[in-house]
Amino acid sequence: MSILVFLEHHGDELQKGSLGVLAKAAQLGAGDVSAVVLGSGVAGLAAQAGEHGAATVYVGDDPKLEAPLPQPRVDALAQLVKERGIETVLFAQSILTADIAAALAARLEAGLNWQLVDLEARDGTLVGKQSALGDTVLVDVGWTTTPRLALFRAGAFDPVPVGGAGTVEQLDVSFEEHSLAAEMLEQAHEESTGPSIEDADVIVAGGRGLGEPEKFALVEELAKALGGAVAATRAVVDAGWYPYSAQVGQTGKNVAPTLYVACGISGAIQHKVGMQSSKTIVAINKDPNAPIFEFADLGVVGDLHQIVPKLTELVRARRGG
Ligand SMILES: Cc1cc2nc3c(=O)[nH]c(=O)nc-3n(C[C@H](O)[C@H](O)[C@H](O)COP(=O)(O)OP(=O)(O)OC[C@H]3O[C@@H](n4cnc5c(N)ncnc54)[C@H](O)[C@@H]3O)c2cc1C
Repeated sequence: MSILVFLEHHGDELQKGSLGVLAKAAQLGAGDVSAVVLGSGVAGLAAQAGEHGAATVYVGDDPKLEAPLPQPRVDALAQLVKERGIETVLFAQSILTADIAAALAARLEAGLNWQLVDLEARDGTLVGKQSALGDTVLVDVGWTTTPRLALFRAGAFDPVPVGGAGTVEQLDVSFEEHSLAAEMLEQAHEESTGPSIEDADVIVAGGRGLGEPEKFALVEELAKALGGAVAATRAVVDAGWYPYSAQVGQTGKNVAPTLYVACGISGAIQHKVGMQSSKTIVAINKDPNAPIFEFADLGVVGDLHQIVPKLTELVRARRGG
């Protein structure tokens, strides 16, 4: 069975989620595992892919692939799948890969399963696990034809460096005229000092219980003391208290940090689905009946305005500053 993992990169860094999917593919032991890196000036990224378990790393290095636009990548992947007879293409879900996978599915008339949280090799084929009914159950999903395409939820797997060195193969991509019609006019990078919520090991999240946007400073201070990132609920994002990029949940991001501290968050199902895979959930809420206490590992009933600053102080003292 041949499995290809699409590796998304930002600048000169392969994304953690993509490397996690590559690690999963390698662990399956179900056949040839290759990876593909597409961009401009990306040849140097191939070594990282080899270290994370790809036996072959395809590199499409072309100025036409510089902008993070989907269609030129669909050309490259469609060509690769057809020429090498690849049976499975896996993606870590992101805004870019959701577009690429959907367009590739249309181009190849292939089946695409999305929002997968796991994958296993069973009876000579692959079976995905997809959460359903608001994340209350996991269902098995499969493919009736090849190529099989799959998008995995952010944070589904951790990268595992195995120290290998993949064979690098350069791709000579032929682009469709229509695929080059879109042009990226501007790309902006959000200024942030800490880790992104997708990569953070610790997340401190704030909800409407903060009372006002200025009180996000409490959450930010605690996140800083813990070396973590700040997340938010949709209620506060919709109210304009915090940017959408920090929203966790059904219509935001899925995260799975080691520690998730929820401050003034009720724990609505739409928020829960985005953070319930966190290893330890700590909830601070003044309402003992708040739904978040039903799935938190540790609950503190009380006013966050008193608890959070004290907690930050304690963390700083424990960490020596
Ligand atoms: C289609 C759809 C998609 C959605 N997608 C998302 C999503 O992606 N992400 C998301 O988060 N939501 C989403 N929602 C909204 C979701 O249903 C909830 O409305 C939202 O999560 C509530 O946010 P909250 O917990 O900040 O606010 P609230 O529900 O208002 O909860 C605030 C909590 O703060 C507590 N509190 C108040 N004051 C204090 C204090 N001083 N100290 C301690 N605790 C205090 C209260 O007891 C309460 O539990 C979606 C809804 C729909 C319909």
